[in-house]
Amino acid sequence: MSIITSSKNAPVRLTASSGTLLLGGLLALASCSQSSENRAGEAAQNQSTTEASQPGQNGAAAGSGKGTDSQFEAELSRMDPALAQAIRQGATMEEIAALRDPVATTPEQALEALKSGNARFFSGQAKRPGLSANERRAQILAQSPFAVVLGCSDSRVPIELVYDQGLGDMFVIRIAGNAVDLGTAGSVEYGVKHLKSHIVVVMGHEGCGAVKAAMLPAADKQQEPANVRYLLNLVSPSLTNMPNIRDPKAKKREAVVANVLYQKEQLKKNPVVAEAIRTGKIIVVGAYYDISSGAVDFYEDGAAKSTASIN
Ligand SMILES: [Zn+2]
Repeated sequence: MSIITSSKNAPVRLTASSGTLLLGGLLALASCSQSSENRAGEAAQNQSTTEASQPGQNGAAAGSGKGTDSQFEAELSRMDPALAQAIRQGATMEEIAALRDPVATTPEQALEALKSGNARFFSGQAKRPGLSANERRAQILAQSPFAVVLGCSDSRVPIELVYDQGLGDMFVIRIAGNAVDLGTAGSVEYGVKHLKSHIVVVMGHEGCGAVKAAMLPAADKQQEPANVRYLLNLVSPSLTNMPNIRDPKAKKREAVVANVLYQKEQLKKNPVVAEAIRTGKIIVVGAYYDISSGAVDFYEDGAAKSTASIN
């Protein structure tokens, strides 16, 4: 799949010239790391016992004596000293990338990161991380998104913004009605199996047009183009046992939640997903995004837990 960046690239060693180009990215990584000093120190220490201890050959500061050296050194002097030392001693991009702490390393931490990110979003305190060109450069080698989200294509529901996450943080699949079919299930499998994400979220939202259309009489649905009918048919089975709710707004919400829970159960039957659940690598949760408030309600085991109510 060409759209997906491999997480298994060969090591790339810095040179003086590439170091200058990539320095901005490395600076971004350093700023993202809460423990960069210690880990950079470890990297530097490790490097001192390897071939990288010969800076004259491979090191980033293997001076070329050219014009960019002074600029390179000036940039290094402004960095965390241990990280700068690691770069001077020829640290690979993998070693530099490893200096960045992951957002989450367990399913529980991943869910907490989503909840706190959404709380920042709806309370107007979003950090909008990862939007700089420097951070893009630093992510060339690999991706390790902590969360997989199957969401709706609705333009009012941009997943990364709603959870206040940055580049490389989330593996997002969007399809009208956040429905599971072979393609979306395959994308979820990829995130779980190869990218080692810790949580899978099926997210519906207030005012979902796909769910609303799926509730229409069959004659109306028949008027839609064939591929739209295909989408609606993925959603319709979730709406067969709806309770008789008179309030239109409550009824629409109930339908969206029913679809979220239905699609979540479909995913949990997927062999790759089921195995990852069994071994404790991931959890699968449902979510309902309320456009009006900006808050997400999570459905962890049947009961909704609103971000708004826990923060
Ligand atoms: Zn929708």
